Amino acid sequence: MPSPQRADAVARVAAKRQVLHGNNRNQLIVLRCRVCGKWVALRVDPDDLAAHNNGVFIQNAMPYLAPELRELLISSTCPDCWAVLCPSDPLAYS
Ligand SMILES: [Zn+2]
Repeated sequence: MPSPQRADAVARVAAKRQVLHGNNRNQLIVLRCRVCGKWVALRVDPDDLAAHNNGVFIQNAMPYLAPELRELLISSTCPDCWAVLCPSDPLAYS
């Protein structure tokens, strides 16, 4: 069992981490879907974008973005195309 000091430090780091992400979402980025060609605009924190570009996994760098919007940054696939290409219902593939 961790000491109370350690548990307190872990809680402080977790709280700080929550505050750190998405606080300053003033950078507008516009990406074009490589499937349908539609342009999609996102507002992100430039520090989070820099962290992602430096190797931080996007789910850790921008936890405030929905998964389908994070996919836009990963594979340039818009949420509409992502829903068609990767349906959450496994029976949709048959
Ligand atoms: Zn698309």
